[in-house]
Amino acid sequence: MINQGQQLLAAFSDSAKLDCKILLAFVLNKETSYLLTWPEKKLTEQEYQAFITLFERRLQGEPIAYITQEREFWSLPFYVSPATLIPRPDTELLVEHILARHLASDLSCLDLGTGTGAIALSLASEQKQWQVHGIDFSEAAISLAKKNAQRLQLPQVELYQSDWFSNVAANKKFNIIVSNPPYIDEADQHLIEGDVRFEPLSALVAQDNGFADIKRIAKDAQVYLTNNGALYFEHGFEQAAGVRDILKQLGYQSIETFKDYGGNDRVTCCIYLQLK
Ligand code: GLN
Repeated sequence: MINQGQQLLAAFSDSAKLDCKILLAFVLNKETSYLLTWPEKKLTEQEYQAFITLFERRLQGEPIAYITQEREFWSLPFYVSPATLIPRPDTELLVEHILARHLASDLSCLDLGTGTGAIALSLASEQKQWQVHGIDFSEAAISLAKKNAQRLQLPQVELYQSDWFSNVAANKKFNIIVSNPPYIDEADQHLIEGDVRFEPLSALVAQDNGFADIKRIAKDAQVYLTNNGALYFEHGFEQAAGVRDILKQLGYQSIETFKDYGGNDRVTCCIYLQLK
C-alpha cells in the first residue's frame, strides 16, 4: 500500500513515502513506528476506504498538516486549520533567540499574528511566569489558538482578536514584541507552488513588496514597547536589508539579523530606547 501510494504521490511531493506513512498511521490512530512493527497487518475495508479518501486529498495537493489537523512546533503538538499558516521549523528560530536573550522570569510578551498560537504558546511553555499575549486578525485563528492553549495547559496566555494593535489596551507595555507577519509579495511565484496554495493569503501576502505589515508593526510597536524593549520579526530571506532600514529610520538600536537553519537571513531584531 505504501509503495503504491508513494509512486502516485511522487509526482508532486518530495516526501511521498513519509506522507503515505503519516496518512496510514493517522487512519489507524497510531504512531508511524507502528507500521514498521506490524508490516503484515491487513487493513479493514473501513480503514482502507478512510486511507483512500485522505490519500486523494493529498493527491490534490492539500498539505498533510491540514489533513491530519496537527503539526508539531517546538516539540509541542498544535492543532492547525486552513484558517492559519502551518507552523514552520524556521519560525522556531524566533522562539529560540527570544528565550536565549530574555532570561528574567517576569517579562511580558506580545505575539502579533499568532495564528495557531505557535510562538506565544511555545514561549509560555518555557517561561511559565511570563505574561504572554497573542493576537490575530482572524477570529477563526484565535479560537484555534485558544484550543491549543487548552490542550497545552497554558491558560495564562491571553489570546484575542485584534487588527495588529487595534485591540491591545492603550496603556499596556511589553518587554518583547514578536511577529511572523505576512511578508510575501503578491507576485511571488512561490505562492502558486506546493503547500502555500492552501494557506490563507491574508497570512502570507503583504503590500509594498511584502514590507507593508512589517512597517506598520515597527512604527506602532514604539507605543507598546517598554524602554529597552525588544522587537523581533521573521521575514523573507531577501528582506533583511529592507527590514533593517525600516528599523533604523524609526530610531531602533542594536539591529541584528539571524540566519535560519538553511543559512538564509530570516529573523531581525532590535531594541527600542526611549529618548528622554
Ligand atoms: N515562510 C513562509 C513561506 O515562505 C511565509 C510565512 C509568512 O509569510 N509569514 O511560505
